[in-house]
Amino acid sequence: MHPSYVRQYNATRIFHALRANPGITKRGLTDLTGCDKSTVSAILRAFEDIGFVESDAAQETGKRGRPSANYRLSADNGLLIGVHLEFEQMAIVAASIDGTPIRKWSQPLPTDPAALATDLRHAIGALCHEISRSQDEIRAIGITLPGLVESSGGLAHAPSLDWYETDIGNLLRDQIDAPVYIDNDTNAAAMAEYLFGQCGQLTDFVMIDGGLGLGGGIFLDGRPYRGASGFGGELGHIKVVPDGRICGCGAQGCLSAYIAAPALLAAAQRSLRVRNVEELIRAAKDGAPPILDLFEDSGRHLGRALSDIVNIFNPSAIVLGGIVGRIWPYAEITARKELAKLAMRAPLQNTQILVSDISAAETPVGAVALALEGFTSLDGQKPGPW
Ligand SMILES: [Zn+2]
Repeated sequence: MHPSYVRQYNATRIFHALRANPGITKRGLTDLTGCDKSTVSAILRAFEDIGFVESDAAQETGKRGRPSANYRLSADNGLLIGVHLEFEQMAIVAASIDGTPIRKWSQPLPTDPAALATDLRHAIGALCHEISRSQDEIRAIGITLPGLVESSGGLAHAPSLDWYETDIGNLLRDQIDAPVYIDNDTNAAAMAEYLFGQCGQLTDFVMIDGGLGLGGGIFLDGRPYRGASGFGGELGHIKVVPDGRICGCGAQGCLSAYIAAPALLAAAQRSLRVRNVEELIRAAKDGAPPILDLFEDSGRHLGRALSDIVNIFNPSAIVLGGIVGRIWPYAEITARKELAKLAMRAPLQNTQILVSDISAAETPVGAVALALEGFTSLDGQKPGPW
C-alpha cells in the first residue's frame, strides 16, 4: 500500500476519533485507532498547523502525574454545508467541521432546476454572512433529494420535485467552488445515523425513512451500499400486497403505497377529519379507534417488508425514521407478529429495531453527513487536507 494512502487512512481515522470523542488524549487516540504514538503525534501536528485541532497542550509537561493534553476539533475553522431539497422548499444547514449544525436557512425550491445553482450560491453566501464566517472555509457541500440519484455525477430523477433527468452535478459544478456530494435523502439519513446517531458502532444496518414517499438506506460492511448505478436501497418499494394499491413508482402493492404519509392520511380521512401528520399522530395518541386500526394494519405491511430485509441483509439494526418511526409505537405489535411469522429466526434474533432520534430533530443533518463523508472519504473528490 502506498505510504501516502496509509497516512490518509490514519488521518481519517484520527479525525473521526477526535470528532466522536472531543477532549481525547494522545493515549486515547492510539488506543482507539490502533495508530502508534508517533503517527498520532505527527497527524495531530498537521491538523494543528491547518487549524483543525485545538488542544490545551500548554499544560502538557510530560511529567508523571500531570494531566495529558486534551485534543478536540476546532469549531472555528472549516464549514460543511448541507442542502436538503424537498417538496417546494430547500433547507440549507451550515455546520462546523465535526458536523455540528450552526444555523439553518429555508427558502423556496426553484421550480426550474436550472435556477438551483444561482439560488444556492446566494443562499450559502447569505448564510455564511449571517454566521460571520467566510465562504472560503467551506470544505464540502452535501445535497440530498427525494428521488433517485446516479452515483456517477448527480443525475437525478425526483418526481416529487417535478425534476426529471436533471444533472444537478453539472448544474452546480461551474458555479459552486467546493466539492459537492449528491445523494438520495434516505441514503444520507443512514449516513447521519452512522456518523451522528445510534449506529456509529454498527457495520451492517438498514434505514427506512418516510415522508411523502418512503426510502431506504443500506449500510453494509461499514459502507453505504448504493448499487451498481446509485439507485439501490429503494426499500419503500418492497411489495407487501400482491396486486395491491398502485404506487407512485408505477408498480402495485409497494410498502410506500400503504405507509407513506399521503397514503396514511388518505386512509385516515375516510373516517376522521385529520389534515396533516401531526393531527394523525395526535388522533392515535388520543386513542381514536379508526387510527389505531389503521396503524395496526400498517404494522402488518411494515412487518412483511421488514421480514424481507432481515432475511436478505441480516442487519444488526433496522432504523425507522420520519413517519415510519412515528407510527411504530402503534404498529409495533402487529409488525413484530408478522416478523416472527415470516423472517428466519436466526437473523431476526440479532436484529434490533430502532426509532431514529435524528430524523425527528428540527435541523436536518443528512446532507451535512453526506458532506462530512465526502470530505473525509479516501476516494472523495478532494480528500481531507492531510
Ligand atoms: Zn413503488
